[in-house]
Amino acid sequence: MMKTAIYPGSFDPVTYGHLDIIKRSAKFVDRLIVAAFINPNKKHMFTIEERMDMLKETTKTIPNVEVDAFDGLLYEYAKKRKGYFLIRGLRAFSDFDYEFQRAMMIKEIDSRLETLFLMTDMKYSYISSTGVRELAHFAGQIDRMVPPYVAKKINLKIHSVKK
Ligand code: ADP
Repeated sequence: MMKTAIYPGSFDPVTYGHLDIIKRSAKFVDRLIVAAFINPNKKHMFTIEERMDMLKETTKTIPNVEVDAFDGLLYEYAKKRKGYFLIRGLRAFSDFDYEFQRAMMIKEIDSRLETLFLMTDMKYSYISSTGVRELAHFAGQIDRMVPPYVAKKINLKIHSVKK
């Protein structure tokens, strides 16, 4: 049976931290679906189309990665896509509490769903999309946190907003 995993997140925008998790997890499944979450309650910097475009552009060299979007409940989306492995990245102790609860809850709802955690690579452990957005807003250096394609989109977005 084909092994499909789902890596859900906001990816607002995708960072080198996310890309590291994507590259590493794509190696142990047949297909990795990177699923950007459409959350109407959250104010995003980028639209779902823009977030997907950046994900597609930065993962295009990994053949078994598919980029998609989902709204509503993650476990229903996972069932629909037959992706019984959920991938999450762990950066710090602070991620653990939230991720632990979330994984337990999902397991309780559907015991077929397994959440797999990958530890961040040390060199990316400090990177978060929130940090990148804040830094970019104040014209800080983001080159070591996001690929050039993403940095360009961020700069365009910030300038169009400020105009
Ligand atoms: P963020 O917290 O950066 O806004 P997302 O909601 O898009 O990120 O997170 C999606 C997943 O990616 C989560 O499991 C999160 O822990 C993981 N992740 C985010 N940044 C990193 C990083 N630098 N290293 C490893 N995992 C990460």
